[in-house]
Amino acid sequence: HAARAMASVAAWLPFARAAAIGWVPIATHPLPPPPVPKDRRRAEDEKLLINVSGRRFETWRNTLEKYPDSLLGSTEREFFYDEESREYFFDRDPDIFRHILNYYRTGKLHYPKHECLTGYDEELAFFGILPDVIGDCCYEDYRDRKRENAERLM
Ligand SMILES: [Zn+2]
Repeated sequence: HAARAMASVAAWLPFARAAAIGWVPIATHPLPPPPVPKDRRRAEDEKLLINVSGRRFETWRNTLEKYPDSLLGSTEREFFYDEESREYFFDRDPDIFRHILNYYRTGKLHYPKHECLTGYDEELAFFGILPDVIGDCCYEDYRDRKRENAERLM
């Protein structure tokens, strides 16, 4: 089982790398089909468990599928499904993930000012979310930080 789980993650990797340099729509870069979830009832909706580096989040499948072009909203999340623990596992930053999951719930993405911009951008890229969905409440902070970062690199 462990070997198969590793193979699944390996299949996902090229895509994650592509995402790191900018979200590429799934349609233009077809992936191998995700592993078919076995023995899982197809209910109208179901609660999903998402484990991010040991911190567990719960949400409804329908909540995630609001944004089918993102990693969690598409069937590509099945690459990260662990049949033993019956949860999705992501070896990512759980603090930033909270904001990502809230985006699915509210349609608004917030930028936590105390987080490093690069770290935040990397999490967004991994999960296939574009920074232009950042809410008006946080957009100025995000844009200013982006500008500061760009100037520092010049
Ligand atoms: Zn905000």
